[in-house]
Parts: sequence; C-alpha cells; structure tokens
Amino acid sequence: MDDRRLSRRDSLLKLGGLLAGATAVGGWKVAEEAGAGPAAVASGLVSCVLAPESTEGPYYLDDQKLRRDITEGKKGVPLTLRLRVLDVSSCRPIKGAAVDVWHCDAGGAYSGVAGASGTFLRGIQRTNSKGTAVFETIYPGWYPGRTPHIHVMVSLGGNVVHTGQLYFPDKLTDAVYRRAPYSRRPGRDPRNAGDSIYRNGGRRSTLALEKRGSGYVGSIAMGVQRS
Ligand code: FE
Repeated sequence: MDDRRLSRRDSLLKLGGLLAGATAVGGWKVAEEAGAGPAAVASGLVSCVLAPESTEGPYYLDDQKLRRDITEGKKGVPLTLRLRVLDVSSCRPIKGAAVDVWHCDAGGAYSGVAGASGTFLRGIQRTNSKGTAVFETIYPGWYPGRTPHIHVMVSLGGNVVHTGQLYFPDKLTDAVYRRAPYSRRPGRDPRNAGDSIYRNGGRRSTLALEKRGSGYVGSIAMGVQRS
C-alpha cells in the first residue's frame, strides 16, 4: 500500500467526521463552505447523507392541507420546523419538493384517528429555492411504545422519494415535558434508545434544536434520491 493513498483515505475520514459533526449542530454549513455541486461530489470533498428511511406508520391521512401553521390552536411548546431537502447525488437543494408532516398532540393523539376530530398537526409545504420547507407547530407529545417523533414524507412530482421520522434529543424532551400541558402525562416510555424504530437510523434523523422565545427551532437536512 502506498503512503499517498493512505493519507488521502485518512483525510476523507476526517472530513466525514467533520460533516457528521456539522449536521448534528445545525445543517450543512461545512458542506456549503467546501463547495457543493457535482464537481465537489466527484472530487470526494462533499458527500450528502441519505436520510434514513423509516416506516410511515398507521396514522397518515392523504388529504393533508397546504399550510405553514399546522397547530389549529393545539397547546404546547412552540416549534418551528425548518426541513431542508437536498439531492443526495449532487448535494444541491431541491426546490418545489412537497414536504408532508404529521404528529401527535401534547396528549399523544393524532387528528382523524381514534375519535380525535379535526386536522390538527398535519400539513404540507413546498420547499423554496434553498430547498427549505417551514412549519409552525408544537413540540409533539408521546404515545405508548414510541419515543416522541414527527412523521415526514417528501414527494417530487407526485412520487414519494422519502418516508421518515424526525426525533428529538432526550434531554430536551425531558425539559419540555416538565412544562404544561405535557407535565400532565409523566413517565413517557420509551426514550429514544428503547424505541425499536428509532434504533434504525434515528440518531441521523434527530433534529438540531435552537431555543427561540418560549419555544424552539428544529432543523434538519434530508438527502433524497430523485428517482
Ligand atoms: Fe407516530
């Protein structure tokens, strides 16, 4: 084995670690600074991470509304979602992707399911020129057997290209759940590590969260394949 190959491999490993770290603290800044696009990908300088696929679950309804604010008056800690869609083969943002989200309320109920009326906490937004779709919602509650999560589906031209779930750091959930109305249902179970769906790529689908006012902004970039 020659030394040059060894050192190139070493630097790529380091870059990989750097990118993973940057993703964890809020997006793709390092990837952008290193230069995006096909040339950067071909050179091996940039690699987008394919968002982990996950089960859609039983509570998707296919008549979700195009809207940014999905709260419908539901009480909870405010959460702004900034969900970015990138083409995994070029690292470029995808404009016009339909991003569909749905999640349970602070009491663990999904709208339209098991007698819960309304269409709360469900909606669709299109990505802008930066590949970003924004939603105004609340921090989700929990229901038995699942750690807190938000379901997400990404479609291009009517075809679903990604189905996944977004997660939260346990420590932050603990802090949020000490507040009303979540505090009425103590003893959530399981936490992230005990959730069989989270264990399948959940760490890479965990939102980066920043405090804003009385709530949070949760961001993530999702690498998808166009076909
Ligand atoms: Fe769910």
